Amino acid sequence: MPEPGELIFESPRRGKPPRHLLDLDLAGRKQAVTDLGLPGFRADQVSRHWLVRLEDDPSTWSDVSAAHAEVISEALLPQLLTPIRSIDCDEGTTVKTVWKLFDGALVESVLMRYPERVTVCISSQAGCGMNCPFCATGQAGLTRNLSTAEIVEQVIAGGRALQRGEVAGGPGRVSNVVFMGMGEPLANYNSVVGAVHRLVDDPPEGLGMSARGITVSTVGLVPRIRQLADEGIPVTLAISLHTPDDELRDTLVPVNTRWPVAEVLDAAWYFTKQTGRRVSIEYALIKDINDQVWRANLLGELLAGHLVHVNLIPLNPTPGSKWTASRPQDEAAFVRTLQSHGVAVTVRDTRGREIDGACGQLAAVTGSD
Ligand code: SAH
Repeated sequence: MPEPGELIFESPRRGKPPRHLLDLDLAGRKQAVTDLGLPGFRADQVSRHWLVRLEDDPSTWSDVSAAHAEVISEALLPQLLTPIRSIDCDEGTTVKTVWKLFDGALVESVLMRYPERVTVCISSQAGCGMNCPFCATGQAGLTRNLSTAEIVEQVIAGGRALQRGEVAGGPGRVSNVVFMGMGEPLANYNSVVGAVHRLVDDPPEGLGMSARGITVSTVGLVPRIRQLADEGIPVTLAISLHTPDDELRDTLVPVNTRWPVAEVLDAAWYFTKQTGRRVSIEYALIKDINDQVWRANLLGELLAGHLVHVNLIPLNPTPGSKWTASRPQDEAAFVRTLQSHGVAVTVRDTRGREIDGACGQLAAVTGSD
């Protein structure tokens, strides 16, 4: 029975998602299985089925007795993600899925198949509290953090769809994961690092993916960047810089008022030092806002000589936005200027744009269509 008043303060949206196998490391899973009165080795077997072979139907787990499979799936494999809408574009090679969570919160993930890789872009929070004015997710504010299992299940769901040949191009596997969906991953640090462990740890502890294929993208929460650098997991770090000067960045990425550009870049260089990994600087090019040659020069000066690469993203205009992508000639001048400083630069493609699945467009609007 709820205590008086509890319903007011503990709205269902604030409850915790049910515990799931993927919230736990292998030792924790063994403990949980033992607590259910079953032999600990079942944790190993079920982990192999769930996260290595991606078999979600307990009746196919031939090495686990039906009774044990049922007890474990009851207790440790609640359905965390319910697909409520899936839309695709790029001839079916880009698929966006809207998921409903146990409490009705909505998140989105996007699967993108390229000739040489498959990337799943996942959400780490329902909504986002960072309030960047050009990003659709930021407009609605933060609903809540996702649990480790809610994060990893987005990757597993993508892997299953690929394995079953449901994505155009035939059966395949997920090779890359980017934390560039909804939310600020480093504001949900423990769940995100737990999720990264599930992705990179050796089977059956985890999926055994390469850490290099995993990108954690952040607005620049400096203490968390340093903490991530010290985790000893060589993921790729992406920093959403968007401009090299504090005056404009204070408005584009409001958390800049707390940790300004110089501190963010210092933390980025600490990350490169600790991990040996090149940092990626994300820069959404916004027409007449941050795309001037002088800004490219300033950025080039700040980055020259570091283990870094700039990823320019033509702005994906969000509904009602007064901003739009840069003119082609301004984008080209920006690229040339950065290159003149010896800085590596790429321009990101705009996959998923027409299904509102491109960067910064994820808003989990279900619509009625
Ligand atoms: N909170 C994290 C990850 C989420 S967004 C972060 O900010 O890094 C992933 C990337 O998309 C970020 O670089 C973000 O700044 C960028 N982005 C957001 N809205 C965008 C838009 N409308 N057009 C282009 N890129 C956008």
